[in-house]
Amino acid sequence: MTDLTAPQLKADILRHLTYTLGKDAPHASRYDWRMALSFAIRDRIVEPWFASTRKTWETGHKRVYYLSMEFLIGRLLEDATINLGLRDLAEAAMGDLGQDFRAIVEDEPDAALGNGGLGRLAACFMESMATVGCPAYGYGIRYEHGLFRQRFEQGRQVEAPEDWLTQRHPWEFERPEAAYTIGFKGHLETRAGREVWVPGETVLAEAYDTPVIGWQGKWANTLRLWSAKSTTLFDLDRFNRGDYAAAAEPEALARTLSRVLYPDDTTYQGKELRLKQEFFLTSAALQDILRRFTAGGHALRDLPKHVAIQMNDTHPAIAGPELIRLLVDDHGMEFSDAMETARACLGYTNHTLLPEALERWATYTFGNILPRHMQIVERIDGWHRETYPSRPHWVGIVKHHEVRMGELAVIMSHKVNGVSALHSDLVKKNLFSELEALHPRIVNQTNGVTPRRWLKMCNRPLAGLITETLGDGWESDLDRLRGLEPHVGDKGFLKAFGAAKRQNKVALAGWIKDHCGVSVSADALFDVQVKRVHEYKRQLLNILDTIARYHDIRQNPGATWVPRVKIFGGKAAPGYAVAKEIIHLINDVAQVVNNDPVVGDRLKVVYPENYNVSLAERLIPAADLSEQISTAGKEASGTGNMKFMMNGAPTIGTLDGANVEILQEVGAENFFLFGLTAEEVGPRRANPDHARDAILASQSLQDVLQMIAEGRFSPEDPGRYHQLVHRVWHHDYFLVASDFEAYRTAQAEVDRAYADQARWLKMAALNTARSGFFSSDRTIRGYMKDIWNVTSAL
Ligand SMILES: *Cc1c(COP(=O)(O)O)cnc(C)c1O
Repeated sequence: MTDLTAPQLKADILRHLTYTLGKDAPHASRYDWRMALSFAIRDRIVEPWFASTRKTWETGHKRVYYLSMEFLIGRLLEDATINLGLRDLAEAAMGDLGQDFRAIVEDEPDAALGNGGLGRLAACFMESMATVGCPAYGYGIRYEHGLFRQRFEQGRQVEAPEDWLTQRHPWEFERPEAAYTIGFKGHLETRAGREVWVPGETVLAEAYDTPVIGWQGKWANTLRLWSAKSTTLFDLDRFNRGDYAAAAEPEALARTLSRVLYPDDTTYQGKELRLKQEFFLTSAALQDILRRFTAGGHALRDLPKHVAIQMNDTHPAIAGPELIRLLVDDHGMEFSDAMETARACLGYTNHTLLPEALERWATYTFGNILPRHMQIVERIDGWHRETYPSRPHWVGIVKHHEVRMGELAVIMSHKVNGVSALHSDLVKKNLFSELEALHPRIVNQTNGVTPRRWLKMCNRPLAGLITETLGDGWESDLDRLRGLEPHVGDKGFLKAFGAAKRQNKVALAGWIKDHCGVSVSADALFDVQVKRVHEYKRQLLNILDTIARYHDIRQNPGATWVPRVKIFGGKAAPGYAVAKEIIHLINDVAQVVNNDPVVGDRLKVVYPENYNVSLAERLIPAADLSEQISTAGKEASGTGNMKFMMNGAPTIGTLDGANVEILQEVGAENFFLFGLTAEEVGPRRANPDHARDAILASQSLQDVLQMIAEGRFSPEDPGRYHQLVHRVWHHDYFLVASDFEAYRTAQAEVDRAYADQARWLKMAALNTARSGFFSSDRTIRGYMKDIWNVTSAL
């Protein structure tokens, strides 16, 4: 793998520049150089990729199929060089060619085919499955436009389309030969006593394959993304008659299917196009799986011995009925056998308890778009009712003229998992308690993140120190970070740890100056909250605390203040007005605070635009404090929290999602815990005066709300936040007011801890040392053992 030399790599790059791009070096742009380097690196992935595929075929090894509507991948170039052990060589080769490796890496657009945590999890899983040698395919949609680009105009979020595919995507291979017909609508006919679906519309799903290389290049899997094409050829007659638009219509209609990613991750609207996208992905994947399986010459009843299919959330939950349809209608299997076969293959991961995020389709819509599936769903529901006669009358898949995708996914899976210990518990006790009582199948698989991207790649100073201290090998055996613990009492080590963090902070301060126009001091505490903007994640609580701090500094500028930089990042769904208002408020507060001469370096507020994977890679290594402050019971797991921990940022947080396990691993003395617990939230909310009581008990919160209401942060439009303030007083569903004082107290404790740098550095280093559990390699091994029943092929 590392037998490649710099001259060879250089020759490869120049060869691609010349023969793939058709460019002469003196006239090559940065884009050309990036393409040439990417192709040269991709060449090195192809051999291990073929070898992995070959080995899987030869040994008849079981394969995992991961179905996900989202893969939030980010950039691939540096990641690939790191996993191939070629990063430094690539940097040197580019240097020799007069090119800046860093600039070339940053020229790559993010592949943003996801909204947030769920999509990023799928991307981490792909990398970890390749690392641990789990033979796997990821299946998704090749959206022409990924998640929108966010800009601020006078502090307001403005969305622009994202266009990652306007440039050539060098990592993928188009597979025109791997295409499947996907049907929609139409009607059912009875032929020879069997029900047959005659679709009214069809599109073609065409495959694009991206190899995913694991750590040290030992194994590679495939991410197969589907693009929609028209099944009808261009209408030459119409074109010749001069009807140009109509001639191109079928093509345009088909393409809308894979045109855009839905930009909302926490609510869903029963939009027809979304259901079509879900079926498009799922049907193409299942047809592909069955084609590969039957090519192996096996009997269909043996499918579960060779195939494990994981549904990432309910988005691909149509996989149950679709697999039954393919087995029964296309392959002549009996319904009950098909049911058993499908169930033994399928697993379902639940990602949320938020009721507004649970997919339910009107039977009218569902039956119109997928008439045969509607019939199969009714049959599954009937079978389930008969098989479990004690099923309560209110439980089932089809209720109140809706198809409930959560219930469908649970009933069609042999295992269902939540994504953190607390969340899995709540899924069992609340969300699917009746089904769990009928047939226990809910397990936990706490999320993780890949330490290759989220530590080794994004934090070179710290990764270097870890290797210096522990030697090689921690990257694929993250529990070894525990070996740092004995060094945490060592002054020299702590100093080096602090120097690594400072180096990242200085780099970020420079970037903030260039991109946000704000000067921040690297001596200040970098307090970071980056994630999708949502009421349950409570960016509002953070900005209210920021305002309280601002107020206190103005009251008493002479006191000793631990300087802070409050860093926010995140997008709001375009239709989510309340979240957008919170963004506006944060930007308005930043304007006032950053320009107040009384405040100076004691407090700065920055909100860089367009939070995405590559911005996360820049911000997280420079963070001192990780904000994980959701209303308890609402955040299923979080994965941002794990990235911060690995990078040596202690958490200020509630007992929610994987915070619970972070706290357990790191110890209470290294975690700033505050707030109501999941159990306390319900009773608190039951008191109709909860917000009013909390506000009246906090002078600080009264002052803050008063300042906002008076227009202190919107002097040109003093009434701008009247509604927002009104909501805190009267509709504070997410209990911002109730947790405000506890949060302030925890923040004061953060100040005290940070003021004692020796104490702080020790806490920070212990966070890294104890983060091993949160490697997605551990998560994947858990799925392999408990859900997929598959072993490593390495
Ligand atoms: C990790 C990550 C997330 C998830 O963050 P949470 O804090 O867990 O919600 C979202 N977006 C991006 C770009 C990420 O890298």
